[in-house]
Amino acid sequence: MRKPVIAANWKMYKTPAQAQEFLQSFLPLVADDTRDEILLFPSYVDLSVAIAATAGSNVSVGAQNIHYAEEGAYTGEISPSMVEALGATHVLVGHSERRQYFGETDQIVNKKIHAAIHHGLTPVICMGETLEEREAGRTEEALLLHCQESLKGIIPQVAENFIIAYEPIWAIGTGKTATPEMAGMAHFFIRTQIAHLLGRHTADRIRILYGGSVKPENACALLNQPEVDGALVGGASLDPYSFAKIVNY
Ligand code: 13P
Repeated sequence: MRKPVIAANWKMYKTPAQAQEFLQSFLPLVADDTRDEILLFPSYVDLSVAIAATAGSNVSVGAQNIHYAEEGAYTGEISPSMVEALGATHVLVGHSERRQYFGETDQIVNKKIHAAIHHGLTPVICMGETLEEREAGRTEEALLLHCQESLKGIIPQVAENFIIAYEPIWAIGTGKTATPEMAGMAHFFIRTQIAHLLGRHTADRIRILYGGSVKPENACALLNQPEVDGALVGGASLDPYSFAKIVNY
């Protein structure tokens, strides 16, 4: 049985004071015996505040990105060890906004996954098709390529803990959500490819989250799909009450 994961991606929103304020409201809304693993991905500058505020709670905190190098002359970048030193446990890798605006490729994503593992950070690997790919009937081709390229050189035992986020690009921030059936089919396809690449045992353990306009109103139908192991929530995670409703779906 895979434990559901509900994750918040705050993108480039919230100052440290706003992060603190969010957590003061949000944490009491989460039941102590929640069945979910809850993850929060705030901006780098909010990490310390969020890690301190969630200590002893059932919320874990991760970074939205890392560089793959150990250290070096990369102005403006953050290394895996910096994130690890703060106490982050997870990292988002290959979000479509990183791919679209910052030129991240599956090859870079692969390097970042290796760097994350080396530092004991659990990668949440994001992948999804563009509208053009979906309309041309090339969704599976796109997902297959993401799986093959980003998981190169990864050993099955390590990959068991990975989390994948299926985020169709046309559904991100657009208010258009994949239907539960569309999400279910894409997740099934991704899991089948993972089984080919890393074996059935690992494929059965990897959690695959859906992301793209998840809201309290549609969370339940999506999360009830057997292949959907959780959600990666953008816009609706910025408000503590709306995110709590999704967590307590
Ligand atoms: P929205 O929930 O705002 O569509 O964002 C989804 C997303 O990109 C999460 O990583």
